[in-house]
Amino acid sequence: MIEGLVDLEKLVRLQDEIGPQQGNASVRLQFDVDTQRRHLIDGELEADLMVPCRRCLQPMAVSVASHFKLAIVSDDALAAEVPSDYEPVLVDDEQLDLLGAVEDELILSLPQVVYHDEANCAISREQMSSGEAPVEEVSRPDSPFDVLKSLKGKF
Ligand SMILES: [Zn+2]
Repeated sequence: MIEGLVDLEKLVRLQDEIGPQQGNASVRLQFDVDTQRRHLIDGELEADLMVPCRRCLQPMAVSVASHFKLAIVSDDALAAEVPSDYEPVLVDDEQLDLLGAVEDELILSLPQVVYHDEANCAISREQMSSGEAPVEEVSRPDSPFDVLKSLKGKF
């Protein structure tokens, strides 16, 4: 059993997905060998991540937790025989990139879409509606509203 902390700042692929991270993921890994001499890992991880809000793109705190089961296999044929509740991980020379596997699990555990509560979001509904109007006028000088304005001036 390994219990430890993984420095989130070292997880480059995770940060490619969701931006800069601070702090640690806590990870517990239980190692086992089954009757067919496969190396199995029963793992749990928890982390507090900063994930960008889809509306304002500002990072928001999101806690993720994952329980995963990995079977370490050295070729595809062995991968096909792995029990269904285990996810096969292909390795060369039985050398597992443990940090990489943990990073994969963290990325898999990310929520698909996160939004701030409207009250906390940098882009509230009010700002969106008041912020859009001037942009539209600048980018569309021939908007129907201009036509209406000129019509209105004639009466
Ligand atoms: Zn937001």
